[in-house]
Amino acid sequence: MHAPEQFDAGLMWFRRDLRCQDNAALFHALRACRRVYGVFVFDTEFLDPLPRADRRVEFMHRSVEALDADLRALAGNADAGLIVLHGPARTLLPELAQALHVQAVYTNQDYEPAAITRDNQVRGGLANVGISLRTAKDHVIFERDEVLSLSGTPHTRFSAYCAQWLAQLTPFHARAYEVETHAARLATRPEVWRTPVPALQELGFHATNLAQLALLPGRAGALTQWQEFAARMDQYHLTRDYPAVRGPSYLGIHLRFGTLSIREVVQLAWDRYRQGDPGATKWLVELVWREFYIQLLTHFPHVVEHAFQKDMDRLPWDHGPHGRKLFAAWCAGQTGFPLVDAGMRQLHATGYMHNRLRMVAASFLTRQLGVDWRWGERHFAEHLNDYELASNNGNWQWAAGTGCDAQPWFRIFNPTAQSLQYDAQGKFLRRYLPELARLPDEEIHAPERASPIELEAAGITLGVDYPAPIVDLGEARRAALQRHAAIQQERRR
Ligand SMILES: Cc1cc2nc3c(=O)[nH]c(=O)nc-3n(C[C@H](O)[C@H](O)[C@H](O)COP(=O)(O)OP(=O)(O)OC[C@H]3O[C@@H](n4cnc5c(N)ncnc54)[C@H](O)[C@@H]3O)c2cc1C
Repeated sequence: MHAPEQFDAGLMWFRRDLRCQDNAALFHALRACRRVYGVFVFDTEFLDPLPRADRRVEFMHRSVEALDADLRALAGNADAGLIVLHGPARTLLPELAQALHVQAVYTNQDYEPAAITRDNQVRGGLANVGISLRTAKDHVIFERDEVLSLSGTPHTRFSAYCAQWLAQLTPFHARAYEVETHAARLATRPEVWRTPVPALQELGFHATNLAQLALLPGRAGALTQWQEFAARMDQYHLTRDYPAVRGPSYLGIHLRFGTLSIREVVQLAWDRYRQGDPGATKWLVELVWREFYIQLLTHFPHVVEHAFQKDMDRLPWDHGPHGRKLFAAWCAGQTGFPLVDAGMRQLHATGYMHNRLRMVAASFLTRQLGVDWRWGERHFAEHLNDYELASNNGNWQWAAGTGCDAQPWFRIFNPTAQSLQYDAQGKFLRRYLPELARLPDEEIHAPERASPIELEAAGITLGVDYPAPIVDLGEARRAALQRHAAIQQERRR
């Protein structure tokens, strides 16, 4: 972002930063321009491929409504607020900027390849009419080349990246952008754009079960969730791995849509980390994982389609009818492995999936079922509320053993052992697999091991009420090791 210069008018383009507090691009726009308009585009080129009922779209829609209200309150002017458009941003943005006679458009950097392509198109469209596009860093603390190895190359080991990230962090990086100081510059919208945010239905979408979930959208929702988590952050390291426990923050969706600023959460976690708080330390490290994968995506965009370790593209995934059948059972939460099935059903019922279950489900699909990680990655991308290309891709490749700093090829999670370890009393399993609820704690993790009497007492006929395991774990493990061993052998040649 350049030094302040005085423009008569600027346009702030909100995307995955749906808040007016501590917003880098908005701050820069307000400092540089005497009048600043705000716009949000429901971009059809991104929305059209989505299912017509999508929790992310509903969350985004409600957060845009809240942002509109917040902007007007901040401006102290009911006629300020958001201009909301529906169509391709690629063409609508330059048209709007020209019609408003602004000299510059401000926006926060998006690091996903499709967004970068779109932004380049917008930049070109704006340049054609003599308007500049200015981007700011907002979504991360450190971007692209800001945390490099001593030799100037991107880090591919998380431990080294994390150590350097923490060493480089200063109060400056976590300081909030004081948008409020310049709020008087938020402009009154010309009358033609003083329209309410279109209803979800007008955008071509239906309501989901979002309202029934403990997931409040907008800035207010983000703050409620953040305060709730901040009060138990000190326990995070002890509770985060147990899916039946309220251990994680559930803030992923707010970080994804920018209803929460990364700086405000890092500031508190970092303060507590410096006081030696183990919960805050662990949580801060998770935020570093997020940035690790974002920088990885910018440096190695081939990961979108290919294995990070390029020779891993030769792994012989089962793409045939058998693989498709296994994949369908996995998607439906009908594999016969309760922890995997409960995780997949949590995903479909809520759009959230506990991190431990994401790891177990991804490992199971790619290692034990031999199904291509890209299939699983796509399924998660369609359903996760907090879907981020960088994190989803990085973690899928980690689980499949194809990624950067991945799970070693010979370490394969056993889903039954994971279930016994992390949900010993089967509380989480019972929540999402009611058909198994009456099994005793010892048997619920592997119903096929229950005696016929126990199954009968629990009202379960295997293969009818709940599937028998779709693979033999021992055989599946051997096959997985063989697949990877072939690549390892080639490497040694
Ligand atoms: C197969 C797989 C797919 C995943 N897909 C996504 C995804 O699409 N989007 C996503 O944000 N996370 C993804 N994760 C990482 C992690 O599971 C989620 O970030 C976390 O479960 C979100 O819940 P939370 O906000 O309660 O997390 P918390 O445990 O409270 O963590 C706080 C924040 O740290 C970040 N974070 C935590 N763990 C990771 C991680 N392993 N990698 C990157 N960032 C992390 C997230 O921003 C998260 O919101 C995936 C993990 C796996 C194993």
